[in-house]
Amino acid sequence: MPDRKDAEHLDSIDPLAAYRSEFRIADPDLIYVDGNSLGRLPERTIEAVSRTVAEDWGEGLVRSWHGWIDLPASVGDKIAPLIGASPGEVIVGDSTSVNLYKLAKAALARSPARRTIVCDTGDFPTDIYIMEGIARDSGCRLARIDPDPVHGVAAADIEMACAEYAEDVALVVLSHVNYRSGAVADMHAITHAAHAGGAMMLWDLSHSAGSIEIDLGSSGAELAVGCTYKYLNGGPGAPAYMFVRRETQDSLTQPIWGWFSQQDQFGFAGTYQPATGIRKFLVGTPPILSLVAASEGIVLVSEAGVPALRAKNIALTEMMIAFFDEQMHELGLSLASPRDADKRGSHVSLSHPDAYRICTTLIDRYRVVPDFRAPDVIRLGVPAIYTRFVDAFDAMDRLAALLRAGDHVGSPGERARVT
Ligand SMILES: *Cc1c(COP(=O)(O)O)cnc(C)c1O
Repeated sequence: MPDRKDAEHLDSIDPLAAYRSEFRIADPDLIYVDGNSLGRLPERTIEAVSRTVAEDWGEGLVRSWHGWIDLPASVGDKIAPLIGASPGEVIVGDSTSVNLYKLAKAALARSPARRTIVCDTGDFPTDIYIMEGIARDSGCRLARIDPDPVHGVAAADIEMACAEYAEDVALVVLSHVNYRSGAVADMHAITHAAHAGGAMMLWDLSHSAGSIEIDLGSSGAELAVGCTYKYLNGGPGAPAYMFVRRETQDSLTQPIWGWFSQQDQFGFAGTYQPATGIRKFLVGTPPILSLVAASEGIVLVSEAGVPALRAKNIALTEMMIAFFDEQMHELGLSLASPRDADKRGSHVSLSHPDAYRICTTLIDRYRVVPDFRAPDVIRLGVPAIYTRFVDAFDAMDRLAALLRAGDHVGSPGERARVT
């Protein structure tokens, strides 16, 4: 049975332990298990952003653009090794939603004879909404697969969809790690199934980049997107990234024509001539302060190394599930994440009919910050770079104490604007 001493021991031998001090821990008693929504603030980001504001903006003024102009590509090259991409295959800009739009539109335009997009009903809503909008706008069909909510999508689901809409599937859009259950999709097998059906593959890496190993290169996938403010600790509203496989870049036309993707951007010609390479996927002026912040978070994750982070997040979530099995099964909770560690990302989800009240009570009275995902999930994210084993233990322990005391009963159930 896991007890706090075991957790303390695991912290004492944790090779990543020193990374916690790289982050701002403003309140040591607050247990933050929501770094998969917004990663913590790296101390070095405070300095890097302050320097950019005071020196580059304050003193350098517009001249600083000489240094800023290539940040979308250079920060993209820093992300590349984390996702199994090569230099020149990743660029940073816009939000994940906008990047989904750009890449999906470009993929559809490349295969005009195919009119079906396959997506997952259990995917993060923005992924579905963007595809709904594109389908309506371009008269395409959106085929929704409906996999098991805990175990997520499998290659067989994609094979079936490709068989059902034979010769018509242009694009398959899926998340690598499911935002709700944490299920890890088999990137290689699913990409293979999409390709066998003649479709292109677009992965959303928002919950996997920086938390689990990703090898886009060997998977054969053409396209990917992801955000930088979760496991990459880029900060609120930090820009997202796009991956386009090198061999695919020339065959795609990016649908939003802006001056940052113009071949000769400062030639100021009156007609659009797209840049070659990954730069053609940019649109307009990038948010430099957020790019500088994102860069610091990405570098920290690269220094810690994804294999070490993955080993630790498996150990963290295994400990939480052991705690659940031994102390919480009679408290009305169900495990809503896969039990097989290889098929589970870096969070544990527990479902309960009163999940919303439990989450708000945890935050207000138990000093634990998880998040609630409608309708009934309590999501506990444990980014390995700064989460200690005692944090994961205490989060579970406080949740168990809350449920035993019934402290959530009677707390207001009205949903806040942000949950
Ligand atoms: C967080 C997340 C997003 C966020 O999209 P934005 O456009 O950056 O708000 C998109 N997709 C998935 C799977 C996510 O987890």
